[in-house]
Amino acid sequence: MIDLHTHSTCSDGSETPSSVVERAAAAGCSALALTDHDTFDGLPEAARRAGELGIRLLPGCEVSCTTPTGTMHVLCYFVGDAGPLSAELARLRDDRARRNEQMVERLRELGLTISFEEVSAEAAGGVIGRPHFAAVLVRNGAAGSLQDAFDRYLARGRPGYVPKARVEAAEIIELARASGGCAVLAHPLSLELDPLERESRVAELAAAGLAGIECYYGRYDDEQRRDLVALAGRHGLVATGGSDYHGRYKPDLEVGIGRGDLVVPDEALAALEERLDSEVAEPQS
Ligand code: AMP
Ligand code: ZN
Ligand code: FE
Ligand code: FE
Repeated sequence: MIDLHTHSTCSDGSETPSSVVERAAAAGCSALALTDHDTFDGLPEAARRAGELGIRLLPGCEVSCTTPTGTMHVLCYFVGDAGPLSAELARLRDDRARRNEQMVERLRELGLTISFEEVSAEAAGGVIGRPHFAAVLVRNGAAGSLQDAFDRYLARGRPGYVPKARVEAAEIIELARASGGCAVLAHPLSLELDPLERESRVAELAAAGLAGIECYYGRYDDEQRRDLVALAGRHGLVATGGSDYHGRYKPDLEVGIGRGDLVVPDEALAALEERLDSEVAEPQS
């Protein structure tokens, strides 16, 4: 088994890159991808620990894309600081700095106790995200749980929410490929499309060069996973998967096994690599 979707302290996960790798090895994974939001910072440490433990590390990241409905995240694999994707991630991190200040302001205007210093300390040097805001709100008694903080203040449409910069999916796919890697649509059901609309959106993304879709996702049930594997098959896409581990920020999910029922087959990684190889052989196809 493998896990192609995990987060560390370098973004909004609570565990260090080394610890995420250790958990993957303990769960019996032969490979894992570290996919922090908008950063490659955790990759050197993760690669070092993976080498020591004899488990394979795929370099990666997760990027939020523009979408008229729901939420769209794209996972990039086999990418890193050397490629053109890196400059785009730097732009996205810069925009987060603006957004973080604005979110603190909004929450304070609502009468809540929160400061930028507290949020920054919670993130401990990693890319700051809403889960860090949620943790501070819980600690300061403004919310009963992380989910409560989202439901009342931080979810889209709630009064503390400020949008962040997003990228067109086609652009991220292009940047991932230009960086020698590939792109996969994360948790496709978060697009909140009905099956017909989902089919045509995935067709568009496939035409734009998407390599796969995340079918075996930590929080999906068997039927949802099966439907997504069929969807991937209809569009010639690789059926990939991962837990979306975030440590204590998503306490129901463990590396590799998700909620206990996740098994992402090794073949998903082999199929992704096969696609990369064929693209190197025929760059136009
Ligand atoms: P950000 O990139 O700062 O917008 O934060 C995204 C993170 O917040 C992801 O880890 C999401 O899982 C989490 N998140 C977004 N919306 C919600 C929600 N409605 N409830 C719980 N967590 C959420
Ligand atoms: Zn996250
Ligand atoms: Fe995501
Ligand atoms: Fe994620």
